Amino acid sequence: MIAHPYERLSQERSGITKNVDRQYVANIRQIEDEGWLLGEDFRDNDLSASRHASKPRKDYLRLLEVIRATKLGDEARVIVINEVSRLFRIVLEAIELIQLSEITALGYIKVVDGRLFDLANPNDRYELINETNKAALESDVTSKREKRVRRSMAKEGLFNGGTRPYGYEGPIRDEHGRITNSGRIGVAVVAEEAEIIRESITRVLAGWPLRSIALDLNKRGIPAAKGQPWQPTALRRILISPRIVGVRRHLDQEYPAEWPALVDRADWEQARLILAAESRRQVKGIRRYLLTGFAYCGAEVTRNGQVIACEKPLIAGTNSGKRRKQTERIYRCRRLNVYGTEYGCGKISRYADPVELFVADAVLKRYSSPNFAAAIKQAYQETGQDQAAALLDEAEGYRLRKQEIEAAYKTGAEGMGIDRMLRLTLDLDEEIRKVEAKLNQLSTGRILAAIPSGQSIYEAWDKADLHQRRALIGMIVKRVIILPVRAGGGLWTHERTGRSFQFDPGRVLVEWLF
Ligand SMILES: [Zn+2]
Repeated sequence: MIAHPYERLSQERSGITKNVDRQYVANIRQIEDEGWLLGEDFRDNDLSASRHASKPRKDYLRLLEVIRATKLGDEARVIVINEVSRLFRIVLEAIELIQLSEITALGYIKVVDGRLFDLANPNDRYELINETNKAALESDVTSKREKRVRRSMAKEGLFNGGTRPYGYEGPIRDEHGRITNSGRIGVAVVAEEAEIIRESITRVLAGWPLRSIALDLNKRGIPAAKGQPWQPTALRRILISPRIVGVRRHLDQEYPAEWPALVDRADWEQARLILAAESRRQVKGIRRYLLTGFAYCGAEVTRNGQVIACEKPLIAGTNSGKRRKQTERIYRCRRLNVYGTEYGCGKISRYADPVELFVADAVLKRYSSPNFAAAIKQAYQETGQDQAAALLDEAEGYRLRKQEIEAAYKTGAEGMGIDRMLRLTLDLDEEIRKVEAKLNQLSTGRILAAIPSGQSIYEAWDKADLHQRRALIGMIVKRVIILPVRAGGGLWTHERTGRSFQFDPGRVLVEWLF
């Protein structure tokens, strides 16, 4: 199979795919992993991404030409992209490619670390169009929002094209609407807000999840920058911003800012790592269930004649049958997703209450086992701050080296070819991953160390809110596998609460991180 990487620059905030070079690296890696032949590469480098941008995409058109030059029966072609939205701006473009696949060698579209769309398969075609639709819809929303924001900014005469940074003064006007504090905007500190930022950083370091911090601020009636309630994402943006350590960043370069720092740099660096680890663990959306994102389907399914594990994340919800007196919370493997397309096997469904009690007990037991808790606490106390700082330096060193290597590849310095660049950056990624795992372990220790002596993990758990509990689980649990029930499962009584359920704890497997 011959693979054509396609990259396109866009303004989306998703970070990883911002840069076409990074998209290219991801595409190439995927092609190598699959063992495909690397064909001609295509990339569109201007920012006009959505259908609201009218510029034609030169390389996309060239890609179509290359495809059109092939015949059905030639060696199959696959287009490799980072996201479906890189390739198509409108649904018509997806349909055009699907039609081309009927008369050319184009057979597949592969999303890096994601699906392989088989263009001959009606189900895949349907989903490809579906994905394109979703992406187009998002771009619609973004475009409208951008216009609205720009307009309101012009009205309010906000400085620098930005909204007021929390913790610093915004424009103050006299009765004629003239700004009276022009030299202080974005520079002078608002003491009580600075205090909230410091408190939040301290809480992150003590193991509070962002959601709990935001909830607590809202409960205390402390508003965000524009008087609105706090959202975890907004709080996160503030806490990871280099602004609060007095740094101005421009094009990946750091400059000392004219405004003062609000928090200590070492604390901030550490908090940032904890927040990064938290966001990697988190599943998007609102979490009202303890185990969403942790619970997976343990049923076996037959695909292409092979028996494999389903392993889809279980969806949490309630079952409200007509004959039931009350609704019950459940986790289940859904056969169809919200778009009505195939998702899981549909074989697993389990009442949430006993599963959650059982898993919580397993987690607490592990935390409180003398060996485990002592080892983590001791490792933290002995090495604590110093080691965290050293690990941070180490990670930073790897990141810098990676940037150098990618820069060398772009300029052709050091005789850097694509193969060597990919190999080196792959090794560095692995090192970074190892360091982050160690830091993760340290933050687990920090949470345990933060529990007042004399208070057991059980008491801490009882006081914790849902997000804190999820954080405690996420520190040590990799997955919770729910296996199909066996006949004759009996009654199970949860000791701490005395509640009884029709439930077989032997059909729940907890996989630990370490
Ligand atoms: Zn399943």
